[in-house]
Amino acid sequence: MAAVSKDDVTQVLKRIAAPDGRGNLVSAGLVSDIAIDGGSVMFALTTDPAQLKAMEGTRAAAEKAVLAIPGVSRAMIALTAERTPGRAPQPQQAAPRGQGVPGIKHIVAVASGKGGVGKSTTAVNLALALHSLGLRVAVLDADVYGPSMPKLFGLDGKPEAADAEGKKMKPMKRFGVEVISIGFLVPEDTPMIWRGPMVMSALTQLLREVEWSETDVMIVDMPPGTGDAQLTLAQQTPLAGAVIVSTPQDLALIDARKGLNMFRKVNVPVLGIVENMSYFICTKCGERHEIFGHGGAREEAERLGVPFLGEVPLDKDVRERSDRGEPVAATVPEGLHAGIYRDIAKKVWAAIEGGNLGRAAPRIVVEN
Ligand code: ADP
Repeated sequence: MAAVSKDDVTQVLKRIAAPDGRGNLVSAGLVSDIAIDGGSVMFALTTDPAQLKAMEGTRAAAEKAVLAIPGVSRAMIALTAERTPGRAPQPQQAAPRGQGVPGIKHIVAVASGKGGVGKSTTAVNLALALHSLGLRVAVLDADVYGPSMPKLFGLDGKPEAADAEGKKMKPMKRFGVEVISIGFLVPEDTPMIWRGPMVMSALTQLLREVEWSETDVMIVDMPPGTGDAQLTLAQQTPLAGAVIVSTPQDLALIDARKGLNMFRKVNVPVLGIVENMSYFICTKCGERHEIFGHGGAREEAERLGVPFLGEVPLDKDVRERSDRGEPVAATVPEGLHAGIYRDIAKKVWAAIEGGNLGRAAPRIVVEN
């Protein structure tokens, strides 16, 4: 059976009336970018919060129509309300998938197969280590389920508007690195429920509606895991490559393999694996303890044919400084850990600049 295309979906949505007699869903500009993964179709409909109830009927009609397209097995359609600051998705102007971001040379994702392995800690320290090499660096916190960049960078407050109409915002800045996170926009205690398509439209805004300075490399802290939202994100962000973080335990490695496969599926080069919490140096006896059976990630990287980028020990200082918003790579630049992160950063930079990965957009599997 022919693969489902965006055009197939657009065609059926054109037959559904928009509320208030504003033509159809497509002509009224209510449909976000459409993501298709095999038989799964995902998108969002922009909704006036006052009409949320009425729109539910329209949403159900759209779902039914999309499910009736041959080859579609699943339709995930979310209603997204206009939010401030920032705008709801503007599909007419939506950038084509994979299009580069002005001013940003390379975008590198830091990902993990599951939560709690130190992905965010690695992302922040890798960004700071790249900066210490003299590069212009930005960080996009795409972990919308648990944004941790405000805490890790010790930043609070809200980004300022970059223009009078409030169309773009300025990134926050600390330790010489520009940072944006949904955590700056939503109060910490606000429970957020994210459906796949909403994640993508929120992230598109964070990526494209920020006035970034000229940047050599942007580090994206991905949401943990390898579900639909992560896959769409990997597919639609113009990534130069991905770094996978794993702990040495076998289980985590199975998850790391999933992460690897996700990027391979969308043809994003995997720059390598970082083994985090690799070993532990006793502060009293100075001895090295390999509590988690260290070395698994290196062997696994070899087996999978991806570069091994380095091993970061489990260390109280790494954790405590992260918790205080003083990441080691910036605050103890002469220390052991900063050195390890710098070596990883050199390898990452060599891979994106040295290899033939330095293109604006990755090769993307387009399902037509
Ligand atoms: P993830 O982003 O994968 O969920 P985090 O980066 O938030 O993981 O790390 C989870 C916890 O582990 C945090 O408390 C963090 O400070 C701690 N941590 C991460 N890496 C290390 C390390 N190398 N040594 C000690 N603690 C670490």
